[in-house]
Order: sequence, then C-alpha cells, then structure tokens
Amino acid sequence: MQTENATYETVVGLEIHVQLSTQSKAFCGDDARFGGAPNTHIGVVSLAHPGTLPRANKKQIEYAVRLGLALGCEINLYNAFDRKNYFYADLPKGYQITQDKRPVCRGGGVTIQTATGEKYIRLHHIHMEEDAGKSIHDLDDAHTFIDLNRAGAPLVEIVTEPDLRSGEEAVALMNEMRRLVRWLDISDGNMEEGSMRCDCNISIRKKGEDVLNTRCEVKNVNSMRFARRAVEVETLRQIALVESGRQVTQQTLHFEPATGVTTPLRDKENAHDYRYFPDPDLPPIVLTTEYVGAVREQIGELPRALRDRLVAEYGLPLYDADMLTQEKETAHYFLRHAGLVDPRLYKPLANVLINKILPYLHEQKTGFDRFPILASAIGDFLTLIDQGKISASAAYSQLFPAMLERPSVEPQYLADELHLLHDADVGFLDGVIAQVLTQYPQKVAEYKKGKKGLLGFFMGEVMKAAQGKAEPKSASAAVAKALER
Ligand code: MN
Repeated sequence: MQTENATYETVVGLEIHVQLSTQSKAFCGDDARFGGAPNTHIGVVSLAHPGTLPRANKKQIEYAVRLGLALGCEINLYNAFDRKNYFYADLPKGYQITQDKRPVCRGGGVTIQTATGEKYIRLHHIHMEEDAGKSIHDLDDAHTFIDLNRAGAPLVEIVTEPDLRSGEEAVALMNEMRRLVRWLDISDGNMEEGSMRCDCNISIRKKGEDVLNTRCEVKNVNSMRFARRAVEVETLRQIALVESGRQVTQQTLHFEPATGVTTPLRDKENAHDYRYFPDPDLPPIVLTTEYVGAVREQIGELPRALRDRLVAEYGLPLYDADMLTQEKETAHYFLRHAGLVDPRLYKPLANVLINKILPYLHEQKTGFDRFPILASAIGDFLTLIDQGKISASAAYSQLFPAMLERPSVEPQYLADELHLLHDADVGFLDGVIAQVLTQYPQKVAEYKKGKKGLLGFFMGEVMKAAQGKAEPKSASAAVAKALER
C-alpha cells in the first residue's frame, strides 16, 4: 500500500504489551502459562473473591527492571501500583492493577533498522500491570464466553514517544522489541499467542510542522503485518477526513484484518475516566541501587552490541551478523563453534548456520539442544570444503543431509561413501589439463598472445574431462598456471 504523501506525514507512538514468562501470575500463585483448558489456571485472587489480597511477584519486578536496563531507561527506585477502574466482563475485580504515576522505568530508547537506515526511537516509560481475561465472541452467535486463565497474567507495557513515521518503522520497532525480550529471557514474544501485542496511536500532520494533532488509537494489534497495515489504513483515513474539510476526532479503533478497515470501538476516552488511584492493597515497591546493579550484572551482551562485534571481530557481513543475533541460542552456537575453527572458516560457519542449520531447526520445530550434528563434525565439514576436497554445492546438498541422518559417522567417511570427494591426486588434475591443452593447440597459442578470455573455455573443457572430480577453484588456478608455461 502506498502511503507516502507529499503533504502529510504520519506520527505514530506504540504501546506494546509484553507478557512476562514468569511461572505464576502477577499477584497470586496461579499458573501464568499460555493455554490450558478454559478457566483452569484460576484461583480466588484471579476470580476476585471478596477478601482476597494481591501480592506482588518478585520475578515480574526483576524482569521489568531487566528490560528497562537493556533499553537504557532510568529505573524508578520507588514505584507503585495503581488501580485503573473500568467495567468489563473479563475483568472480575472491576479494575486493573497497573502503574500510573510511578512506573518502574522512565525514558530510554531503542534503535530500529529500516530499509532507509537506523533510527533511535525514544521511550516515554515502561510500567508493570496485569492482563485481563479473554472474552470469546465467535464461538456462539448469542453468547460470549469468558476464559479467565489470562486474568492477572504479568505484563509490562512499553510506551514509546511519537517518534515513528510509518508502518514500516512500527514493525521494525516491534521486531526489535521481540528480539530483545526473547534475548533477555523475559518473554517468548509470541504474537500469535498474544504474548506481545500493541496499541498504535496514530495522527497526521503537514510535513514540516512540529505539532501533535488529535490521534486515534488502534487497539490490540496482534501481528507485525497488521501493525503495518493498521498504521497505513488509519493514515489514509485521516488524510481523507482532513482533505474533505472534516476533523479527526479522538477515537479508539479496532483494526479488522479481514476487511483492512479500522472501525470505532468508543469515542473520546481520557485517562481520568479510569479514576486511577494508588492500590491500597499493595505497598510501594522500593528498590535499592544494589538490587538494580545485581539485575544489570545478569544481562550480559545485548544483541546489537554482539551483532556489531561479529562484524568487527569476526569479519562477518552485517546481514549475517544480524541473522545470527536474532536469537541468543543462535549467537551462542556461532560463538562456541567459531572458537573451535580457523578464523578463515568464520564466514563459512555463518553460511552453514544460516542456510542449513537454522532452516533445519525451523522445519523440525526444535532447538539447538536437539541438533544431532556434533561441533567437531561441523568443523570437519567446513574443513573438507575449505581444503577443496569437496565442492560447497555437493557438501550442502548431499553431505549435510547425510550427516543429519547418520550424525555418528565422520563427514569424511560419508563424503567418501557418497563419492563426493574430489580426486586429491594432483597428478590426475594435471593429466586432465595436459590432455585438454594438447587437444586445442590453436586456442593455447591465442591465449598466449593475450586472449585471456579463453580461460573460461579451457576451464569448461577441463571440468568436463574430469567428470566432476575436480574442485573448480583449484582447477581454475591449475589451468591458468599450465597455460602460462
Ligand atoms: Mn495496558
């Protein structure tokens, strides 16, 4: 969809909800995991029975602080929970416990990558809260079903400044956030299961202006693709409104993926409609600098820093380094194996990881812990290619699958069995070359007079005569050398 407009630009801020992968819910011991039969991960607190009291979850606080530190936020050593009051059938208490005036983190930001380059997106704050239950409207025409498994699940909400200017940037930010929360082991970032979803605040303004106009909020966008389209569709809707002389009114909208249209849920909603007030059942959270320091210690190298290090220290192209740092396990696999091979093999190692191992794991829906090929065998595999004993294409298409099938057998043995090994006998190659050169004395003379383009012709003849037993790189060098004699 083309949304580049000569007159207007779109201004987007996101509120990203991330479900934390704690064992228990935010304020009670109920199972916080996704799934389970409806209304089985519940207890008296989740159901808001009278007289029950919430207790804060240490892990939720730790994960929120970890995220804040990774995003360069200022950690509020004194932060507190508030009640956000509203009525909905999937919210048994009649209010959500969240943080309003004193969120756990303020400021910070994240660098995103788009086709046009890098851009820093500022964050307003990050707060902790609990999720509501789920209303299921599509199982029955006349009834709505309620599943309270999710009620009270621990969330962080990341609120950005309105620094985004397109659907593409919104998606880039979501991608970066997903990579980060997974890297930090605080969430699975799974959008299909609702572990990550966003509200998009969208307004438009004339290019060159610095104002923030009335915005609309598209709620609960649960895929990257929808986030992009929601921004684009809403931008066009607002431009059409303004162009026809009407005004954008503040609205909460729902994006319908099937129709690609945003429809109003409710009008003009202000924060104080919720009557926020400090939750009297939960004491303020008081953190120490020692505590924050200890959380910082656990974080380790962040994906962007590691990506840059893979470029600087391992000589990998940015694309490869980016691929290898999408998941911590992938990066660690690379680093572990890079430590075992010659530096010359870093790039080939990245190749086999990106082109063979990751697709295999994806296809098998499994992880590195179940990957059958040993580190030493990967090293042997790369060395066979590097030494010209087997062509890269044969190694990738035939040897690698054989290694997966029989991981306990040495690659060299498998390659031999599959007749993939090039004839290591240099005499063989020299013999083939000599034979080809005597066959075409005229062309040899032309080559020697300066028609160097004939090298390709000789190579073709040599490869043909060698019947697949010659490795192209060394054969090419040998042909050139023979022609110079
Ligand atoms: Mn929220």
